[in-house]
Amino acid sequence: MEVFQKEYDAVVVGSGPGGATVAKELSQNGKKVLILEWGSNASIKGTFLQTAKMIGIPGKSLLVTNKKLHILLRGITTGGSSVFYCGAAFDPPFDMLMSYGIDIKNEIKELKNEIPVKPLSNELMGPMADKIFTSAQDLGYNWEKINKFLFQDKCKADCWRCSYGCPYDAMWNARNFVDEAVKNGATLVNDAKVKTILTNNNKATGIVLKKRGRTHRVEAPVVVLSAGGIGSAEILRRSGVEKAGYDFFVDPLIIATGRVKGLRKGKELHMQAGIHVKDEYVLTDMAAPKANRLSIMVKIKDDLGGRITDRGGCRKDLCKSDYKKLDDGYGHARKILGNAGVKNVRKSMVLAGHPGGTVKIGDIVDSDLKTVYDNLYVCDCSVIPKSWGLPPTLTLLGLGKRLSKHLLNN
Ligand SMILES: Cc1cc2nc3c(=O)[nH]c(=O)nc-3n(C[C@H](O)[C@H](O)[C@H](O)COP(=O)(O)OP(=O)(O)OC[C@H]3O[C@@H](n4cnc5c(N)ncnc54)[C@H](O)[C@@H]3O)c2cc1C
Repeated sequence: MEVFQKEYDAVVVGSGPGGATVAKELSQNGKKVLILEWGSNASIKGTFLQTAKMIGIPGKSLLVTNKKLHILLRGITTGGSSVFYCGAAFDPPFDMLMSYGIDIKNEIKELKNEIPVKPLSNELMGPMADKIFTSAQDLGYNWEKINKFLFQDKCKADCWRCSYGCPYDAMWNARNFVDEAVKNGATLVNDAKVKTILTNNNKATGIVLKKRGRTHRVEAPVVVLSAGGIGSAEILRRSGVEKAGYDFFVDPLIIATGRVKGLRKGKELHMQAGIHVKDEYVLTDMAAPKANRLSIMVKIKDDLGGRITDRGGCRKDLCKSDYKKLDDGYGHARKILGNAGVKNVRKSMVLAGHPGGTVKIGDIVDSDLKTVYDNLYVCDCSVIPKSWGLPPTLTLLGLGKRLSKHLLNN
């Protein structure tokens, strides 16, 4: 029987951290799950070329926003953006989520027993991150090691390959959960782009997708949209939820960077240590692969704004307070780099990799992540209800676990 005609208990759209968690949890509990993923399932080689294909295609995975904010990246492949992420695991803002009736403390505890979430060992810490660490602490910053989603026994010191997706399976990412889901019996279909939700009497009954130019319909009693901050809003808008895709965040960032004498070329992980100034910015080391530069990333919590276009484009300007935060963070980064011996510090253009808040909890989904349509749920970065400013993956995994429990109990 053709894969789209089989019976499923749930269809999950998108296989990033949100979707992969739901697929893994439901399949582990005996449910028949279909995962539909727009990107390919090619194995990760850790090369610039492959990365460019999966995260750098203009209009698809690389979105150039209008005016001042420049480039927004998202991974279109099994595992979503997590395949190319830096593996930094930040705890969720539990109090903010609690104010929306969402408690994921237990889910985060469970996750920390299931997947590797720990600071890097001293043996794996690279000389560049170490130099920045020492300089920041010397200046009185509370610069600390960051938890990493990393199988440290598989990780190699003196390696930079994870900058382009780790080919040694050392970096944990959402593909690990997709693999588990498939082992549990879930079906993964790649190169399948979901277009709309099928509805009847205010209930979701399935989806419409395109694969290699052909249109298919899949019916299922539960649909979970996990197509990411941009993808889920686009699908919902096309399915009649007009207000999806407005007033979102992207967590803009710049890299402060400069050459320093006596350092060998960068062969180390990104985001080994740093500092988080609540509501303002995160500063971390960000070694450029194979370059003898010291670099610090400044990532800020931007104000909500902008809109996703009907065709999945991104329109968003940064406001004055966003630029002030970037400038403040850059000032601190310059100081730390200067103290580490960098002479001419420069800053990069503005980039972003965390689009979210386009389908907010308390507005477009309720605290169970259910939309206006019965049986249609959203679980990805789009549901975050407020400005963010943090690496979101651990939060999304926690939300995925919580939604799965809700679906299994109902
Ligand atoms: C360079 C970079 C570094 C990062 N570093 C970190 C980090 O260190 N720590 C951290 O926590 N976060 C990090 N992030 C952010 C993190 O990767 C994302 O926030 C997270 O992956 C978002 O998960 P998601 O489930 O919302 O969606 P995504 O990961 O965006 O997954 C969505 C999936 O849906 C698929 N899709 C989209 N549209 C459709 C459609 N119509 N039909 C079918 N499938 C569709 C996409 O192909 C994709 O696979 C980083 C991001 C980038 C880009």
